[in-house]
Amino acid sequence: MQLKELARIIGGTFNNSPENTEVNHISIDSRTILGLPNEVFFAISGQQHNAHDFIPELIEKGIKFFVVEEHLHTEKTATFIKVNSTVDAFQKLAQFKRQQFNGNVIGITGSNGKTIVKEWLSTLLSTGSKVLKSPKSYNSQLGVPLSVWPIDNSYQIGIFEAGISQPNEMEKLGQIIQPTIGIFTNIGSAHGEHFESQTQKIQEKLKLFRNTELLIYCRDHQLVHEQIEATYCCNSLNWGINTDSDIPVRITGKKLQVSFLGKDYAFELPFTDTASVENLCHCIVASLHIGLSQAQISDGIRKLKSVKMRLSLKRGLRNNYLIDDSYNNDFEGLKLALDFMEQQKLKEDRVVILTDFVQTKADAQFYQQVNELLKLKKVAQLYAIGPALSAAKAQFGARATFYEDTRAFLKSDVLEELEDKLILVKGSRKFGLERVMHRLVEKIHKTVLEVSLESIAHNLKVFRGFLKPETKVMAMVKAFAYGAGSIEIARLLEFHGVDYLAVAYTDEAITLRNNGIDLPMMVMNATLDDPATLMKYQLEPEIYSINQLKAYLKKYKRAQQKLPAHLIVNTGMNRLGINPSELAALKEVIAQTEWLEIKSIFTHLAASDDLGERDFTLKQIETFNQFSAELSAHLDHEPMKHVLNSAGIVHYPEHQYNMVRLGIGLHGLEADGIRKGSLRLPAQLKTLVSQIRTVKQGETIGYGRKGKAEKEMRIATIAIGYADGYLRIFGNGNAYVSINGQQARTIGNVCMDMTMVDVTGLNVTEGDEVIVFGEQPTINDLAKWANTIPYEILTNVSTRVQRIFHTD
Ligand SMILES: *Cc1c(COP(=O)(O)O)cnc(C)c1O
Repeated sequence: MQLKELARIIGGTFNNSPENTEVNHISIDSRTILGLPNEVFFAISGQQHNAHDFIPELIEKGIKFFVVEEHLHTEKTATFIKVNSTVDAFQKLAQFKRQQFNGNVIGITGSNGKTIVKEWLSTLLSTGSKVLKSPKSYNSQLGVPLSVWPIDNSYQIGIFEAGISQPNEMEKLGQIIQPTIGIFTNIGSAHGEHFESQTQKIQEKLKLFRNTELLIYCRDHQLVHEQIEATYCCNSLNWGINTDSDIPVRITGKKLQVSFLGKDYAFELPFTDTASVENLCHCIVASLHIGLSQAQISDGIRKLKSVKMRLSLKRGLRNNYLIDDSYNNDFEGLKLALDFMEQQKLKEDRVVILTDFVQTKADAQFYQQVNELLKLKKVAQLYAIGPALSAAKAQFGARATFYEDTRAFLKSDVLEELEDKLILVKGSRKFGLERVMHRLVEKIHKTVLEVSLESIAHNLKVFRGFLKPETKVMAMVKAFAYGAGSIEIARLLEFHGVDYLAVAYTDEAITLRNNGIDLPMMVMNATLDDPATLMKYQLEPEIYSINQLKAYLKKYKRAQQKLPAHLIVNTGMNRLGINPSELAALKEVIAQTEWLEIKSIFTHLAASDDLGERDFTLKQIETFNQFSAELSAHLDHEPMKHVLNSAGIVHYPEHQYNMVRLGIGLHGLEADGIRKGSLRLPAQLKTLVSQIRTVKQGETIGYGRKGKAEKEMRIATIAIGYADGYLRIFGNGNAYVSINGQQARTIGNVCMDMTMVDVTGLNVTEGDEVIVFGEQPTINDLAKWANTIPYEILTNVSTRVQRIFHTD
């Protein structure tokens, strides 16, 4: 777009007469500015800051064009376009771009499910079209224009979500999105503090669809249906499971049947919980309307493995696990949280800490429903906080204890008595349940490794993209799942339908079994002492030598059980494995026993990440192919075959056989980084600034006086050292950490529990958060500085560092 055209569209005036020039990047956040020559910065002020204050600094960074609300007096040369409101201007610009777009635009609103419907629908439609969608949950007054602004006719479809928190917001969003197809997901039971009623909230949301050609919604939501009928004039298409609707949907087990315009379609459901089925139905109906075939939709559904889990799971004191949902509270939300709780198989004993529902009209009947729900979800104990819940005591059985307010609850000894439980903490914001959470979480050490489960699920999905639908995934969770925390990650992977897990040693597998992980599990390095344990815990050993095989067979035979073996062939790695020359001997052992079930035959590639070793790798695969074919021909059953690790999946997807073994890729680290763009980095190692001091020129810092102050310096001591896994080699300026987005280099030697960094001239105060690795610097950066590989950096984070799992 030309600069002058942009000014015309937003109705702005220039401070000078600039050359006309092409501008094609827009930023509204000074922290994420790119610094490109053709970038325009919209100075949009928030509550905390005036964006205009950052302009001189942005000019330094090379930004030349600004849209502002006040002309600035600065000596620096830049072009300012003045408007009355920069927010309005940005919205107008997005609206203009939308008007130039000729394809279909799908607008989504409703109380729950917007983001999931958007993500899933884009997966379904992306099979045949180029789709632009809102990033994350960008659905606000700024999020929507940010999402819409990149649209142009190189796309075929745009999918955008719109969310509002008060009346009169939707009109604007509707003008920007101008959906041709609308989806109304559903409406929660609370109407929110800014709305008088549910009805008003629905009516306001429907304003998104003023000029929409077709609105898709679920007929089963009676109130939504009534409002659409009453206030709404455009075409609509409803589907329903329980009601008489335009598009009847039938569900039997995992099968979903839809009758669309007189034709019947059947799909396999990847998940069966009510919320997911509803979200999926919206997507299917929209896809059918757009003209996708049954096969295309089925294909897309197969890729929809991931359910977005917005709740977070933390490890608590006394072996408790905590689900923190202490921010909102309505009935739907409680249902979702209890569903999430049900999916966690970590602990049997379920406890809920719940406050009054302040945004909902809650009468006795309502609380009776709450009690029914708790019973249904097998909640053993309820701690109820607030006067309304106390007043409804009669609705709850003996499992409930009541407290007038959060203070009274905190004063009781209950929190200290909870042990070995899965605890859901859920309540309205005003009850301040953070204080309860605070008392329940482990606070041993200030350094934490934060792991985003959602990013791991995302990475799994990226790798599945390389695989045929029928190819199985064995997830490698050895070494504490590469340092990230084996139980939680194994549970996540089980939830997302991986087929197998693999660990290095039997102990690791037992820990997983004891925590409710039921997936088939391979143990790579089981010792000869282990067979009884393997049997007891239903573990499947890797068999890497003929002697080991014989010894195991003896023990399994004695126990009258078949040995579930995974045979590894050594094709050039020269670590563990049966050599191809031993094939005859192997066949002989097999011929003499009836106690063997070969689950799989596999090999491990030595250099799958190095394309310079392509010939060698292909030779390994060829050797494996021959060996496994000859062996299989000799068997009465067909074992699975597998070869590829993460880098192998990327480089040699044509050799995926029946299964792949995915490890480091789940952590976003794929050795040569070719998937860098699409993978996410789930792990962040964080610590805190313990103290800051000023040292004079000539003083030294730390052990051995290795750090020298060449001038007066500000030094921060951070709470991480080599005992946490922060290698000594990172000292003396060999690494930096990020504090408030600024780089601070190490100075002096790394100590056992602490490290000093140079914060001279930086905006840092005591108690600030320090990023040791994450987005910046990355694990790869640290690996480079330490002359090692990312695997070692990640697995080296010591067990005393608490792992925190969250879901964004
Ligand atoms: C660790 C391991 C893998 C996984 O390798 P990544 O490079 O982390 O994907 C696969 N197979 C075997 C035998 C392994 O030991």
